[in-house]
Amino acid sequence: MSDWNYEVFWDEVLKQFKEELSDATFSMWFNMDYEYSTENSIVLSVPSKFFETQINKRYKDKIEKKLKDLSGRALIIEFVVKAKELNDNEEEKEVSEQKSPKNKKKAEKKQKTQETKNREQHPDLNKDYNFDDFIVGPNNNFAVNAALAVVKNPGTAYNPFLIYGGVGLGKTHLMQASGNALHDSNDLKIIYVTAEKFTNEFVESLRVKGMRDFKNKYRSCDVLLIDDIHFFEKKDGTQEELFHTFNELYEKNKQIIFTCDRPPSELKNLTQRLKSRFERGLNVDLQTPGFETRKAILLKKLEKKNVRIPDEVLDMVAKNISSNVRDLEAALTKLIAYTEITKKEINLNSAKDLLRDVFGSTRQRNVTVDLIQKCVAEHFKISISDIKGKKRTKSIAFPRHIAMYLCREMTECSTTELGNEFGGRDHTTIIHGYNKIVDQITAEPTLESNIHELQKMIKEATNK
Ligand code: ADP
Ligand code: MG
Repeated sequence: MSDWNYEVFWDEVLKQFKEELSDATFSMWFNMDYEYSTENSIVLSVPSKFFETQINKRYKDKIEKKLKDLSGRALIIEFVVKAKELNDNEEEKEVSEQKSPKNKKKAEKKQKTQETKNREQHPDLNKDYNFDDFIVGPNNNFAVNAALAVVKNPGTAYNPFLIYGGVGLGKTHLMQASGNALHDSNDLKIIYVTAEKFTNEFVESLRVKGMRDFKNKYRSCDVLLIDDIHFFEKKDGTQEELFHTFNELYEKNKQIIFTCDRPPSELKNLTQRLKSRFERGLNVDLQTPGFETRKAILLKKLEKKNVRIPDEVLDMVAKNISSNVRDLEAALTKLIAYTEITKKEINLNSAKDLLRDVFGSTRQRNVTVDLIQKCVAEHFKISISDIKGKKRTKSIAFPRHIAMYLCREMTECSTTELGNEFGGRDHTTIIHGYNKIVDQITAEPTLESNIHELQKMIKEATNK
């Protein structure tokens, strides 16, 4: 073998990353084994081409920097793809087997699978929906790890795999990222279809084309991705067909992935037997992202554009749009368009003006200080005069600060005006109350969702 052996440096690099990264991230990406060294490089094995690309993008530079710091040499890392199911014994066995002509075909087939490296883009999948561009945060960490496990072991890790969550939280993105990764690293026949399209095709096949083609198409794939299965509610015929498709694929260990806007148990107009099929494998949910994840998503989307947007503007957007990533993207698109058209860097005020209608859902004209004070008082079971008064006990001061915070967030009133509305206080008291809540949100993230609930109640109250 080679005269060079840098394995100790690699071990140390691994140790450092293990300390620096979260367990989930580390186990997700540092799935590589030391193979051998050459004069200037360390060769590592990875389970698939997909992992190689990901490691190259995410960690190659960082790994090489650490190697340089440790060894004093500019070592680079290189990869070999080793299909995971081959353990060392099997590998030896395979080498001897290849010598017999009978097994040559088998070996060639295996090699072909490994050569599916640079496959063309899948026609039904959007290449922008990939793992690299999907920001991982506490809201989706589990779902992303599960999706990666499915990609590594399709048909066996979790089957079916179902991703659920509200609108614009990344269900389609994560599903298609899984599809793209499977497509890139395997020779599998993958079908991506929305539940609506599946239904239309089924109806069409009944009407004109005959069922055979339809059945053949969906029952012969290796991976079936069906987006938005809540659409199947009340479509009894399609449900029946899906049930049989599911059973056939499942029996053959073919991977099935679904998305849904709620947990399947909450789908009312779906047959029980289909519901139980959906729930059979692993169901994961996507929650709304917290502030940091929202900010990271904005930065990621901005990375691809040649536009500068000041950090305070991004903070403001991430702070104000909290319920859905799609809205977050729409706001960013507006800011980018503004910057490109005016050729001026956007500032906080012009961004607020530009996004007034986007924030409109939160900052509604008919949300008044009175209404906020009333809703907060009711929620905390205290009186409006307590909210405006001088008592400083915690059970009253806390709701008062919340009310101050919401008034600044949801109305256009100045802090001086708000001071008047809160029992003739100075504007600095309002700022102080507001900041207290901001600090508490940072310290205890559950507060943010409580505040969202209150905002929702206040908005609903405006319609009464
Ligand atoms: P859903 O299918 O749940 O309604 P999508 O998958 O269509 O939502 O996501 C809406 C938009 O938000 C897409 O453009 C997607 O790329 C983006 N998005 C959602 N979650 C993330 C995330 N964690 N990181 C980056 N982009 C995201
Ligand atoms: Mg979707």
